[in-house]
Amino acid sequence: MSSTPEIVIPASLLPADGRFGCGPSKVRPEAVAALASVGRTWLGTSHRQRPVLDEVGRLRSGLRDLFGLPEGHEVVLGNGGSTTFWDVATFGLIERTSQHCVFGEFSSKFATAAAEAPHIGDPQVVKSEPGTRPDPVADDAVDLYALTHNETSTGVMMPIARPRHADGRTASGLVAVDATSGAGALPVDPAAFDAYYFAPQKVFASDGGLWIALLSPAAVERVGAIKASGRWQPASLDLSIALDNSRKDQTYNTPALATIFLMNQQVRWLLDNGGLAWAVARSAESARIVYGWAEASDYAAPFVADAAHRSTVVATIDLDARVDAQAVSSVLRANGIVDTDAYRKLGRNQLRIGLFPAIEPADVEAFTRSVDFVVSALS
Ligand SMILES: *Cc1c(COP(=O)(O)O)cnc(C)c1O
Repeated sequence: MSSTPEIVIPASLLPADGRFGCGPSKVRPEAVAALASVGRTWLGTSHRQRPVLDEVGRLRSGLRDLFGLPEGHEVVLGNGGSTTFWDVATFGLIERTSQHCVFGEFSSKFATAAAEAPHIGDPQVVKSEPGTRPDPVADDAVDLYALTHNETSTGVMMPIARPRHADGRTASGLVAVDATSGAGALPVDPAAFDAYYFAPQKVFASDGGLWIALLSPAAVERVGAIKASGRWQPASLDLSIALDNSRKDQTYNTPALATIFLMNQQVRWLLDNGGLAWAVARSAESARIVYGWAEASDYAAPFVADAAHRSTVVATIDLDARVDAQAVSSVLRANGIVDTDAYRKLGRNQLRIGLFPAIEPADVEAFTRSVDFVVSALS
């Protein structure tokens, strides 16, 4: 598409808020207003002083409540986002051999990071085609299983469970979950993971640049054992240093204060509305709306064939060859409905939208009406 056709979507069809991106995603205006109201006392103040330590403390305890973390679990945070956490994990969590369930761009990146790290062995990779998901394979040689709660590039979600051997034994390796786009809106049992990590710019409706990891006692023990083994780790990627700082409600180096504040606003909002169960139900409602619309449409269809694997936090919708998805996205953008494009590298004639809790289900409904309007105007 070289130029965007002049199509004006009637205001009565438009969503109240046009942000449907999968990250950065919609930040609630109420959270931004709250940040503005503390602008003079919060922004531009020291991250080593009480107000910031207290806010980090509230964030850590809010996440503890949201996920129902048992005693002994730790909420750890550091700078760099989920991508950085892959490097942190290759230094501080993988002892020798990891196994990666690869079913899209994000899950493949962690596998690559592990494959390239010279200080650990070659990873095992269990791969499936985009739009589907693989199952981990229990193997005594594996000391860390890398799962992805929601593969944001394809819109496939995966239930989090410990792998089991054929004889029913639970696998002994740690379970590390990239929950970047699922955490806070997909169900999860803390007993099923050892590291559950994410970043603030998806469900937590804040900005990027931070990683947060929920660690089980077994993961904390692994961190200590690797540290004690003397393995060299860059300080900024050293999970034992991050853990020490987090226990004091600090980060190793300076964090973005606005990001922490906005994330805390979202955690509070989720808790005040009913917590994780409420958030899961709200995203599921948006998912019913968008997949129901696509199934009933004569030009759109859900990309993920198995309805049970379709993500309730990120929807991927294929369009017929006679409708140019890029043209639809450009027209939507010109009308204020932004970031509906397919994941670049997937290369499909597709729309992809976030269904995070901050997004109103009524706005998802309005999105479907707006797409119908644009498609009929284009044809
Ligand atoms: C967005 C995303 C990432 C990357 O997060 P950054 O904070 O940009 O590093 C990793 N994994 C998944 C599943 C994601 O959705």
